[in-house]
Amino acid sequence: MHIFNDHRLRQREYLLQISRAMTAQLDLVSVLSLVISYAVEMTAGTSGLIALYDEESGDQLRIRASAHVPRQDWPAFVRLLRLAPSDLAQQGEKVLREVADDIGLPLRQMIALPLTLRTTPVGLIYVFRAALNVAFSADDRQVLEDFADQAAIAVSNARLYQGVLREKQRLDATIEHSADGVMIIDQRWRITTFNRTMELLTGWSREEAVGRPCAEVLGIHNLQGINICLNDCPLQRMPATHNPVVEGQIRTRDGRELYVQSRYAPQRGPQGQFLGAIANVRDITLQKQEEELQNTFISVISHELKTPVSIIKGFAGTLQREDATFSAEQYREGLHLIEEEADRLARLIQDLLDVSRLTAGGIRLDVADVALAPLVADVVRSLAPMLTAHYQVELRFPDDLPPVRGDYERCRQVITNLVSNAIKYSPEGGMIRIGGWPEAGYAVCYVSDQGIGIANEEHEAIFRRFYRVDNRLRRETQGSGLGLFLTRAIIEAHGGRIWVESQLGKGARFVFTLPLGQHKLAE
Ligand code: ADP
Repeated sequence: MHIFNDHRLRQREYLLQISRAMTAQLDLVSVLSLVISYAVEMTAGTSGLIALYDEESGDQLRIRASAHVPRQDWPAFVRLLRLAPSDLAQQGEKVLREVADDIGLPLRQMIALPLTLRTTPVGLIYVFRAALNVAFSADDRQVLEDFADQAAIAVSNARLYQGVLREKQRLDATIEHSADGVMIIDQRWRITTFNRTMELLTGWSREEAVGRPCAEVLGIHNLQGINICLNDCPLQRMPATHNPVVEGQIRTRDGRELYVQSRYAPQRGPQGQFLGAIANVRDITLQKQEEELQNTFISVISHELKTPVSIIKGFAGTLQREDATFSAEQYREGLHLIEEEADRLARLIQDLLDVSRLTAGGIRLDVADVALAPLVADVVRSLAPMLTAHYQVELRFPDDLPPVRGDYERCRQVITNLVSNAIKYSPEGGMIRIGGWPEAGYAVCYVSDQGIGIANEEHEAIFRRFYRVDNRLRRETQGSGLGLFLTRAIIEAHGGRIWVESQLGKGARFVFTLPLGQHKLAE
């Protein structure tokens, strides 16, 4: 009785050790080796094997662990493994004897039990005894069954683990190659995952970013320059927002300013406590610029349309009043103003059409030889009403300047824009010089004034759509900010370039090039 109890206790102790080994995540082979060693010991066997079916093919048994069978002897057991489980009872011991003779061991008896996962067979456990031992009892079988169960559980765990590992690798690859920036943070707001797109977006490398607080790596700032992530983290708001979204500016590690949108999927515990979150981050700089442009467009257009329309309406209304009499001179003046404002509207509409044509795919040019000097003289004449007494205009074109290859109307539009800007932005008057010379197949032309000038940092911006320098004149002069945008587009469509040379308060000189035509003007 005492011995029996001792035996049971030991078996329990061994089973416990096996399950501990399993939870300690020893690899499958180590757990199986432990199972077979204890199983052999508990059933007073001489040696034993555990063989598993091949996971892919499912039908071939392969030895994975043994007790007291040296590895080099494993191939000898193939014959035994090939026996179908149903034939084991009949032929097992006969085949075992053949194997034993081959390797020179006196094995004569065996028990083999299937390892099953739910109902699927996953392998077999074999325990052998030498000829001199007594035969296996039903009790031995029972003991071995317990060990077989443990082995099956170990296999199941290992397969689950493999499955989870594979799934994790798949998930990692999906995250890694996502077009969105993906960042995972833990409950202390520290970054644990940082994908490739995040690296490109933020300029932080994964090695540097992982482990740091997310507000440091992705500090999203609002328009007032406040770090939203530090001061008003949406994940810390109470009550918790479902899936918060934050938009704002970031400064990347390599100094770029971007506008990003970050969507968070937080994970919370049963009490609502924060456990971590996945952030999907997107660069929406272009979208934001486009949106801003739309807003500017609407405000510019409504302002620019409103002024002439209200002037036209005002004068038309006044001239129609029956209770007032007007002289012929007053009528003429009123009608003249109406016409001027209508022209301004027509020009604005034309500019807008040009812009939309440009964005839709370029402008069509009707190219011919264009003589610049007479064209410029003509433009200056047409602008005479704007040129009050304190303006002087000087034209400096050499007589032998060859014609340029260009679209006459578009060239006229360019020069009109530049000269009217020179007038508009020289409120004190001054000298306006327009001239040009031939150089390396191009006519290099300029329009210079002595007006308010343009600060260095605005030299590129003024060529953007709707861009107007923010100064006193911006409020006082009319303009849509489309003139220079269209001017540059037209010049570039001709294969030329345009730029400005200027300093604030020191006048401006716009220089552009146009390709020369084939013929000399004199011919
Ligand atoms: P608009 O004159 O309708 O505002 P433009 O595209 O022609 O639009 O010009 C853009 C901006 O560039 C102007 O608002 C003005 O601030 C600046 N600018 C253009 N020409 C001159 C100039 N000759 N001198 C100073 N500033 C100029």
